Amino acid sequence: MDFKFKKKYGQNFLTDTNLLRAIVGDAGVQENDNVLEIGAGAGALTEQIALATSGKVVSIEIDRELEPILKKNLSKYSNVEIVFGDILRIAPSEIAAKFEGKPFRVVANLPYYISTPIIFYLIESALPITSITVMLQKELADRICAVPNTKDYGGITVILGLYGSIRKCRDVPRNMFTPQPNVDSSILSINIDENHRADISDISKTVKICFAMRRKTITNNLMHGLNQPRDRVEQVLLECGIDATARAESLDKENYIALTQTLKQQNLI
Ligand code: SAM
Repeated sequence: MDFKFKKKYGQNFLTDTNLLRAIVGDAGVQENDNVLEIGAGAGALTEQIALATSGKVVSIEIDRELEPILKKNLSKYSNVEIVFGDILRIAPSEIAAKFEGKPFRVVANLPYYISTPIIFYLIESALPITSITVMLQKELADRICAVPNTKDYGGITVILGLYGSIRKCRDVPRNMFTPQPNVDSSILSINIDENHRADISDISKTVKICFAMRRKTITNNLMHGLNQPRDRVEQVLLECGIDATARAESLDKENYIALTQTLKQQNLI
């Protein structure tokens, strides 16, 4: 392949067909599924997705220089459309239109440098996503799977835990990528809980405020983030049955749901 890999775009490509097939299997792609891929690269994963479904496969790629390689590698798959652009700058409505508003899965070997913003983009978009199966830096995957009261438990753990059920499918060593990165990876699959798809954006706001300064109490973070006096915040927490001296990492998913509902009712978010 006559191509200069760009570090700034997190270009670590996969070539092992067994691994690529395994990722598509982890994603549970079925015959008629529509699939969104982020980061087509040279099209190796795109090709395995296209082989698994006759539904539409849309892949977003930021690097225009990959166009001739992608054309060559994917020309025989009529169900594949490559869209050149930055996923974070593409309006969710444009993606919805590509699938005519129908549900779709997300499958991606994500660029490390923006994995977290891409995940937030997807879950806050309210798009009809049924599952997200992504390759992530192992440390980020461990954080997403963490339990309360541990160092790894953070805003992204809570938000993704509410968005759906998370499964760690496999660890992938660094030597499986070209060029080889300095980190190992894991594949996570999230099956989306439709009940929370609509209100995840509000819950996400609450969680981000509560985790803004990890070592401060939740009261302090809410006072600061909502610009409200202490007594008002303490009253809200009392109504939700949450200890005002608690820290964000000790609250569980249900606490965050209750807190978000109360903040909304009182027009505080
Ligand atoms: N899917 C290929 C594979 O598995 O071999 C490539 C994966 S590589 C880790 C990530 C890909 O995402 C690269 O091709 C990179 O150019 C692309 N990319 C980086 N930032 C992007 C962005 N903001 N929007 C869309 N694609 C992006």
